[in-house]
Amino acid sequence: MTVKAKVFILYTGGTIGMAPENPEQAGSPLVPKPLNELLKYAPRLGVKEGIELGFKGFDDPLDSSDVGPEHWLQMADYIEEVYEDYDGFVVLHGTDTMAFTASALAFIFENLAKPVIVTGSQLPISESRTDAVMNLVNAVHIAGYKATGLPRIPEVVVSFADKVLRGCRTSKVSSSSWAGFDSPNYPQLGEIGEHIRISEDLLLPMPSEGQTFQVNRDIVSNVVDISLFPGFKPSQLKRLASDVEGLVLRTYGAGNAPGAKGFLDAVQHINTGGRVIVNVTQCSEGMVEMGLYAASSGLLERGVISGLDMTPEAALTKMMWTLGAKIGDQVVIQMQVSQRGEQSENLFDLRYGECGNESEPVSEFRAYRTPDRRFSVTNLSRAVIRLSKFGFDGVKEGESIPLRIFMNLPSASIETPSSHTRCVADFSLVWNGKEINFAHEIDNSTAKASIGADDITLSIVVPENVKFWFEGLYLALFAAA
Ligand code: ASP
Repeated sequence: MTVKAKVFILYTGGTIGMAPENPEQAGSPLVPKPLNELLKYAPRLGVKEGIELGFKGFDDPLDSSDVGPEHWLQMADYIEEVYEDYDGFVVLHGTDTMAFTASALAFIFENLAKPVIVTGSQLPISESRTDAVMNLVNAVHIAGYKATGLPRIPEVVVSFADKVLRGCRTSKVSSSSWAGFDSPNYPQLGEIGEHIRISEDLLLPMPSEGQTFQVNRDIVSNVVDISLFPGFKPSQLKRLASDVEGLVLRTYGAGNAPGAKGFLDAVQHINTGGRVIVNVTQCSEGMVEMGLYAASSGLLERGVISGLDMTPEAALTKMMWTLGAKIGDQVVIQMQVSQRGEQSENLFDLRYGECGNESEPVSEFRAYRTPDRRFSVTNLSRAVIRLSKFGFDGVKEGESIPLRIFMNLPSASIETPSSHTRCVADFSLVWNGKEINFAHEIDNSTAKASIGADDITLSIVVPENVKFWFEGLYLALFAAA
């Protein structure tokens, strides 16, 4: 055989290599078998295409329910050892936690320039009606791109049934159908049918020259993933989060959670303990938009950060990786920026803090914040200003008060007309004695014209003799990832 490509197969366990524990006994539970048993069922794998294979199997193949961070690192180590010798890699894995492993590997590998194809099957390779052979053969074809003429995928992907999916966008969606996986918030990278078609425009770019492949071994597994449910007690939340470094909170819909004081106090308590809380939706599709509903403003005010449209699997493993990267305050920033294409947008979330209070209202507000250096105004897609718990003083109930917000115009006053190019919000607020929450999307061209290369100053301007206070002023800058 003329060797056109070299592919390394790492077998970790899973249904793909399972067989009944006791073949003589009907109904005996399935257990993982060693690699050599599995290979008997695909004897000519890669031969026709000119793909030379290398193999490695976990000494004790695992049901993926037993796979944890130490096994992700073991997989990464095995791949790193032979990284230079192969063109692509196939990881055979159980389906149950495959989406976690694919997400974790995506973050653990830095500057990945070769395909890492994670696959498994719904039925064991030893069964006559199995999907295992097809999934294995397809994975080898994609990893052996040099021999098959397919595009090179410099990413960790899940290839399963008829889909090739970005690993850190994938979730298991069926425990029994052939198409067990999907990536609801990102198009599939490829389609497997009579032909395998990869959409090159959807792939991550190749690392640039000089960016060498690395394995990030510092991951912090002391995190939890908690899903809200009606009746969830604040005390339960506090207890579950008591000794962790980070928390993925699966909330309702667009990122909503109970607004009850007890619940929000528990969130505050967790956050002030220095723990990172990332908000992802329980819905299988869609994104978190904190501040869209009052029911999520409370989380925003208590320092919870947005997981945007990340899967819970990606959010959890990204958090483990980000916490391990020891970047201090940067954890919060990096969590909201796409690292491996795991989210559709980057969020640069500038928090201007609170100002005054009911007994000490103020007559003006001006402050600046500096976006992370990864923010570039040219990529700005949306800018949203949010004010929470805003109150007026010196105003009669029912009175309508003009309020303007200027961006990067420190000299702004009530004399500055709302037609000024730096006026990013112009409201008339009716004060009826109750603190107001509001969000305003800034016209994109106004935002682009007002934001420079550095700090962003926001000034709130109200008429003379009027005073105000608020609990939080936020500027959310969304940029294409
Ligand atoms: N329990 C198995 C596993 O995840 C299921 C499978 O592979 O489909 O290892």
